[in-house]
Amino acid sequence: MTGAANPEMPALRVDGLEAYYGPAQALFGVDLEVPEGSVTVLLGRNGAGKSTTMKAIMGLLKLGRGTVTVAGQEVTGWPAYRVNRAGVGYVPEERRVFAGLSVMENLLVGTRDADTSSRECWTHERVFDLFPPLAALRDRLAGQLSGGEQQMLTIARTLMGNPGIILLDEPSEGLAPVVVQQIATFVNILSAQNLTVLLSEQNVRFATHVADRAAVIERGRILVAGSMAEIAQDTQLRDAYLTP
Ligand code: ATP
Repeated sequence: MTGAANPEMPALRVDGLEAYYGPAQALFGVDLEVPEGSVTVLLGRNGAGKSTTMKAIMGLLKLGRGTVTVAGQEVTGWPAYRVNRAGVGYVPEERRVFAGLSVMENLLVGTRDADTSSRECWTHERVFDLFPPLAALRDRLAGQLSGGEQQMLTIARTLMGNPGIILLDEPSEGLAPVVVQQIATFVNILSAQNLTVLLSEQNVRFATHVADRAAVIERGRILVAGSMAEIAQDTQLRDAYLTP
């Protein structure tokens, strides 16, 4: 993130954001606050607008009204590469590894110097220290990794760009339960490194293992936001809008 962290200022703030796929409106005034250092989850069912919110933040969709602010700097409508340079790392739902490159080469491709001196930069050594399963695979071609390993590599490569906040779009999607558990551990490690995380998720159980804040989205609008514990305990909300 650019500039020194200010605890008063959310790492990411979205106010009244509207977004469109061509003429079709998909977000209808999304409000979202991601506190610095938090793991915040955007919860919602299929088609609720989770991926759309992330794409809109990243400048990948046509926007209507509303604003996106990163560490106090308004980035609304900036192209994705500039939002990324402002400190936002993005891991889309479909994992993207360079299949013909090794794990190590994938990490090196993702390297970008941080714009701030206030955080320790990510290096491949630091990534391998924190995520030993990737270290063991360092010379393997990325295309030969399992789905879970590719997901870890995609997240690790995004870290190499030294983001202040990382957006993870449904990181557990389509993975076996044991791998989902590894991804949860991975997210907890990121959080322990003082990274701010916004992740999207359908599954409340997974979310409770990683998140401290939650916002529920439905039909392109935020219904409610609060602590993860409060939202997880709201059985009416769970029954109506979420996957337990
Ligand atoms: P999922 O778990 O399915 O990814 P989601 O909460 O991420 O769910 P989105 O993909 O953000 O949902 O979809 C929100 C709305 O936008 C849905 O009504 C969907 O049909 C619509 N939408 C998504 N992608 C497109 C697209 N490329 N063109 C038109 N409409 C789209």
